[in-house]
Formats: sequence, structure tokens, C-alpha cells
Amino acid sequence: MRIPQLTCLALILFCLNASAERIHLTNIKAYSHDGKQLHQLDQLLFDADTGLILEVNDNNLTDARRVDGQGQVVLPGLHDAHGHILNYGLSRLLVDLRGFESLEDTVEHARAYAADNPDFPWVLGRGWNQVLWADKAFPSRYDLDAISKDKPIWLERIDGHAGWANSKALELAGINRETAKGNDLILKDAEGVPTGILIDNAMYLMEKQVPAITEHMKRKAIELAFADLAAVGLTFVHDAGIGEANYRLFEEMAKQQHMPIRVYAMLASGDPAFQDLVKRGHLNIDNHLIIRSVKLMIDGALGSYGAIMHEPYSDQPDKHGAYVQTPEQIKAALDFLVQHDFQANVHAIGDRGNTEVIDLLARPLMQSSKLRHRVEHAQILRLNDIIRFKEHDLIASMQPTHATSDMNMAEDRVGPERIKGAYAWQKLFQAGVVIASGSDFPVELINPFHGIHAAVTRQNHDNQPAGGWYANEAMTVEQALQSFTINAAFAAHAESFSGSLDPGKQADFIVIDQDIMRINPELIWKTRVLETWVGGQQIHRVDKQ
Ligand SMILES: [Zn+2]
Repeated sequence: MRIPQLTCLALILFCLNASAERIHLTNIKAYSHDGKQLHQLDQLLFDADTGLILEVNDNNLTDARRVDGQGQVVLPGLHDAHGHILNYGLSRLLVDLRGFESLEDTVEHARAYAADNPDFPWVLGRGWNQVLWADKAFPSRYDLDAISKDKPIWLERIDGHAGWANSKALELAGINRETAKGNDLILKDAEGVPTGILIDNAMYLMEKQVPAITEHMKRKAIELAFADLAAVGLTFVHDAGIGEANYRLFEEMAKQQHMPIRVYAMLASGDPAFQDLVKRGHLNIDNHLIIRSVKLMIDGALGSYGAIMHEPYSDQPDKHGAYVQTPEQIKAALDFLVQHDFQANVHAIGDRGNTEVIDLLARPLMQSSKLRHRVEHAQILRLNDIIRFKEHDLIASMQPTHATSDMNMAEDRVGPERIKGAYAWQKLFQAGVVIASGSDFPVELINPFHGIHAAVTRQNHDNQPAGGWYANEAMTVEQALQSFTINAAFAAHAESFSGSLDPGKQADFIVIDQDIMRINPELIWKTRVLETWVGGQQIHRVDKQ
């Protein structure tokens, strides 16, 4: 493992009492895009108290504490313009047992997790694989009883086709020697006693006992997500659809100042409380939680033939896709939300889905230039619709890693003509459209450097395909940075305080271990974030190893 560069900046700043202090970072190599052009800065002065950037590139600053940045590379804090914070956090909340190569290590990991989360009513997890273990035998309830006999434990196998329970969980599910008789999907020992392994349909016996996720677990999930997001350099995440319960949790956390990064949350239009939440009006808590937009969804995804296409799928001529919300439903929701000055962020993947969404958003009453409506994904576009994005001031909220994840499938689905308007970042840039970039985590990984890499190379991490997949649509590194910073800030009505390193904006920045403007683009995904700062406060750093 590579030892990270000594984070002198962090160590020095860590020792400072940061209260009421101006910090003058000198000798840095910072890049910042203002929406028009890229700037390189070698210093940054900010007030740790107000969180604001005071000056950049001014040598005559004397009343601040100087900190030598030792030539390290600094970027504005990155945005993810489309992610799902709670879902990601929930996926992190369960214990992940993938890759452990012995029963002992697997059990030990589950034990450590149980000890770290004493307040969870169940120990839940997945990913174990006995094929990786020496004797390849299924484990038993007694292995887990060694962790706890009082708290139920239920761990799914890596493929989801088997589960492993301890004695308490079996007891709660009513699975014993008698009830298991005659059910071959409940594994039993020589005496007919269930071993704790349940296969396929027998897993339902357990799953119906597992309690719903509690509010407390959700909050914990969000906290885990925030820590992970900060660690990969994201200081601002646009959450693509929250329901009422999530709204309350975010609001509570922001009021308690327990929201280390900034969140621009879209209200899920499918939530029963959506209209009431819109009627509450815009919410902005300290520029950390901003709610003034609604997520809608016209179609599904390309891989599952859910994206709505003008013409049939090339590889399934009887399929056109299917509406998630019909144009009529979307129109009604749009008419309601513009009355309340809310921005519409409409998921559209297929070319017809996009045409229909653009038709609806292009109506004068939508006040698009003021409300900055967005099309989420904008994945397959007719060439004429690319022009219409610009004509009607619509923002394309796109996910560069979707292109590299989909590239083996997309052309099968849409054929050689329609692919020309697919993931067409450069055509959109050339047309003058604002592209805001994100990942759609947890569908993709959270790391924005994977996104910048995919945007610039249109290759996977093995540098395939050679030269890049439809490389004419690749972004330059500058465009990619722009789309992950200032453009995304614009798409969140947040460019007055976020998205670039300029005086008057919040000091949200990251320190990274390599110069992404200079290195071979194939290496960009390996970039490590050494420090993350939000509002002049350090919220993450890599410890010296
Ligand atoms: Zn999404």
C-alpha cells in the first residue's frame, strides 16, 4: 500500500485553535472553474469563523496566520448532483462480509460490527461465502451464538440465495426441529436440528421477522454516508428524491449542525406528503440543507428496457419502454410546483421520455430560466432535443460513470444511429447547455474521481476500450471539473456561495494527492482525497500512517 503524502497542511492546521481566525494558505496549486474559465491559484485566505473565503492570489495579506501548503493540489469541494444519501447509508449500515477467507474472520468481522452497533435490535448483513473457506462447509448457528445468544443475527450469503441465522433468530422465526420437518430448504444436522442455514424460499421465514428499519438506524445510516462522502471529496450532494421521514431527519440534523457536508434535497413526488412539503416553501438551514426542488420520473432505465423510446428497442423490437409517471401526472405536478417557486428535476432516460419532458418544461409558465429546471440523466437524446435544452435553459444532470457502466449494453439497446445522442456530453457542452455531473450512488460508487475519470476517458479502470467509447463525447478535464463544481452549484441555485474558490463564497475545498490537470487521465480515478474542508472547517483528513 502506498503511504500518503505527509499532510503537513492538516497537521499544522489541526494544531491551531481555529476559532476567530483568518487562515492564509500559501504555496498551494489550486484549480477553480468560475463557469467561464479555469483559474489557477496559489493561495487562499479564509476566515475559519465565518467560513468565508476572503481573498485569493493576493500577496499582501499580513493579518492572517500563514500556512505553507507545500505545493499541494487544491480543488473546490466537489458536488455530486444526483445521489441517494439514505439508500447509500442503509447499504453501509449492514455488515459487509464479502471477501473474508475463513469462517473465523467472517465471524470476527460480524462480532466487531455487533459490538460497534449495540443499539441495533438485529445484527443484519450479507456477503459471506463459504466457498472461500478451507473446508467449504456451510457454517452453523453455533458460530453466531458465539457473538450473541440474546440478539438475533441474520446474514445473507453473497448471492442472496441462502441465509445464516443464530439460535435467537431461529427462535423468533419459530424454526425448530418440529417446524423444520419435511422442509429440505431448512438445513438440519444428523439429529434433525436446524443448523441455522436457510435456503431460498425458507429465507422468507426469517425475513418476515426482521423489523422495519427504525428512525434511529436511518439517522445512523445518514451519518455513515456523510462521513464516506466527505472522505471522497464531496462537500455538496444533491439528494435525488426524499420522502417526508427523510425530510424530517435532514431538517433535524441540519438544525443540530450535524450535517458536515451540504445537501440539496429534491422532494420525491411519489411521496404522499409531497404537496404539503412543497407548501411549506423553500427551506434553507445555514446553506447546509436546501430544499426547493422536486424529483419527478417519466420512465425507467435502459438496461431493463424501461426507458421510453420513440422507436422500438434495437434488440427487442416489441419494446418501447414504460412510463413511471405519465406525462399527464407530470404536467399536473409541474403546474403545482411552479406556483410555489420550486424547481423541477425530472428523470428521463429514453429519447421519447426526454422529448416529452422537454415539451412540458418548455412551456412559458414553467419560468425555466428563473427556476432552472433539470432533466435527470438526459441519457438518450435526439439531436434536435440537445438544441432545445439550450433554447429553454434546461440543465442536463448527468452521470459520467453510467456511460462506462452501460457501454457494453447501450448500443445493443438503441443501435448505431441513436447512440450518437447517448451520453452526449460534448454535444451538450458545444450547444451551450449546463451539465451538472453526479454518480447516482448507490447505483454507482460515490467517488467523484471515478466520475471525472469516466467523463474524460470514457474508459473503464482497465483503460478499455482503447481510445475510449465514443471518445468524441468525452469531456476535457476542465469541463469535468466545471460539471462537478460550479455547474452543479448553479443547478442547485447555490453558485453564490459554492462551486468555486472566490472571495465571498464558502471555504469548501479539498486537498488531493495528484494534479489531475497534468497527469495521464487514465490515472484520475486513483486520486486520493487528503483533506476535506467545509465552511473553513476541516471535516476529513487522511491520518499519517
Ligand atoms: Zn437516482
